[in-house]
Amino acid sequence: MSIMSATSRLGIALLFAASLRAGVDGCACDPAKPETMAARECSLCRLAEQQPPEPAIFFVKDNNPRKPNRWLVLPRSHGDRGHHLQDMTAAERTALWKAAILKGKELWGDQWGLAYNGPKVRTQCHAHIHIGKLLKGVETRRFIVVSKPEQIPLPHGEGVWIHPAGKRLHVHLGEQTCETVLFR
Ligand SMILES: [Zn+2]
Ligand SMILES: [Zn+2]
Ligand SMILES: [Zn+2]
Repeated sequence: MSIMSATSRLGIALLFAASLRAGVDGCACDPAKPETMAARECSLCRLAEQQPPEPAIFFVKDNNPRKPNRWLVLPRSHGDRGHHLQDMTAAERTALWKAAILKGKELWGDQWGLAYNGPKVRTQCHAHIHIGKLLKGVETRRFIVVSKPEQIPLPHGEGVWIHPAGKRLHVHLGEQTCETVLFR
């Protein structure tokens, strides 16, 4: 390997590290300073700020025209450090999952699915769960079974997707891109 290519490889690695650090999980946006929420990755933060103070959870249709059947559920508040599931209390997380499940049932009956993308692929800094219809044939063996939303574990550095299995729930962990299990 030439010195040149080693150098450029290092450069790429550093760039990548820098982009991860500056990624949506490290977003320093602050609702008290609207100018810090101007970036594209903060658009869901701006949307949250446009909502009334209550309720604590709100729904929006995915505004991507290529995902006309998708909805998102989001917390109204931004959390103290970052805006993600790990920054919420267990009660807040459970409330968010319950709201997502209710909306999923309302839209798709027992064919609903929920997806929360992992930190490496997220493009928005504000917590949001995708709600849609679970695609056929996406089942894997990497899941745990829980009987109620209170038992959904907090994903650590990974995404999670959830769907009903009889009266219980499959919680699929260990993946980053999760929303692709849902009908667009
Ligand atoms: Zn942000
Ligand atoms: Zn936010
Ligand atoms: Zn499953």
